[in-house]
Amino acid sequence: MQTRVEKLKEEFKKQFGSDQNTRLFQAPGRVNLIGEHTDYNEGFVLPAAIDRSILALARPRKDKQVRIYSLDFKNLFEFSLDKIKPVKDSWGNYPMGVAEVLQQEKLKLKGFEAVFESNVPVGAGLSSSAAIELVNAFIFDAFSELKLDRVKMALLCQKAENEFVGVKCGIMDQFVIALGEKGRALFLDCRDLSYRLVPVPSEKVKLVITNTKVKRSLAGSEYNQRREECGEGVKLLKQKLPKIKSLRDVTPEELAEHQELLPETVRKRCTHVVRENDRVTRAEAALKSNNLREFGRLMVESHNSLRDLYQVSCPELDLLVKNALSLKGVLGSRMTGAGFGGCTVSLVEEKSVDEFRIKSGRSYQKETGKVPEFYVCQISDGVKEITTS
Ligand code: ADP
Ligand code: MG
Repeated sequence: MQTRVEKLKEEFKKQFGSDQNTRLFQAPGRVNLIGEHTDYNEGFVLPAAIDRSILALARPRKDKQVRIYSLDFKNLFEFSLDKIKPVKDSWGNYPMGVAEVLQQEKLKLKGFEAVFESNVPVGAGLSSSAAIELVNAFIFDAFSELKLDRVKMALLCQKAENEFVGVKCGIMDQFVIALGEKGRALFLDCRDLSYRLVPVPSEKVKLVITNTKVKRSLAGSEYNQRREECGEGVKLLKQKLPKIKSLRDVTPEELAEHQELLPETVRKRCTHVVRENDRVTRAEAALKSNNLREFGRLMVESHNSLRDLYQVSCPELDLLVKNALSLKGVLGSRMTGAGFGGCTVSLVEEKSVDEFRIKSGRSYQKETGKVPEFYVCQISDGVKEITTS
């Protein structure tokens, strides 16, 4: 931590003169443990904030200028709170989008200057985008004394990403980055945003995230298609189940009973979503009863379903999961995030983590020519201010 903060201070002085009166903020990345492609079906998800984060050293200004430097992009971005408009392909759209939605709420914002530094890999599915949104929302909240509650903050950041950046993401990422807590996963009902923090027994087991290093090129178009197929499923199932509003309302038994209403592809998609919701509920129960073997088994079921029924995996993700499951001390493994690249998450006994990295890394590299990255993670707090001494 010290070295990251030192780096931030050094850059801050370089960009903005002294580093007097600065404050330090942090927003984590996140990993979804189970519940994939359920969010936009008003279902359940079980993500956790991780100990990879964006750090921001920031200081309020008296005027309406926002001057922000990203150490990762080596770029200074400036805008006035009175003149906000998107800039094509710039990281500045995330902070600007946040400012825009806050001002749409009639909140009075102060300008600030800040330096950002991150160890959340960009574009790997660990939601560096929601982290940059939340850290900016938190800075505005702190400096302009907005006193936003965290649920509202998450919703506004999602709105910024949906409407200003133009990415149709669900609420999961922003929600867990705003409300996550150390050592706890967050069970979220994406319909009414009720949630529960569930302790994850971390004694002797670790979460290991493995980055395929595959760019998620298909993700956008396929994602929209899956959403449409789910909508189609609801429309058809309504003939026999008139009360349903989304796939969230369908039980596995009801789906089995009425599956003849659905063409094959739609049936596969619906089967994934309906059973995945059920798995999230059972995964929460497994955590509560300290049954990590059952939790791991559900992760594998989830992966198989995403591969065969929802068809959003890719050969590299499948390879990592297959290799992981052949190794000692692995309780479960699955792709995490929207798919077509990104990362897997595995539950690995602590004593087997080194061997996991070596063996799984070696065989992945041999078969794909790509060097995977491993992040051995702790579940951490959501966005917050850090006091430095
Ligand atoms: P991810 O899966 O990591 O969320 P996205 O494509 O959704 O990938 O978001 C990545 C974008 O978020 C980057 O292209 C950049 O615009 C912004 N971003 C992420 N991290 C940083 C950072 N450290 N500094 C500036 N911008 C960042
Ligand atoms: Mg993102």
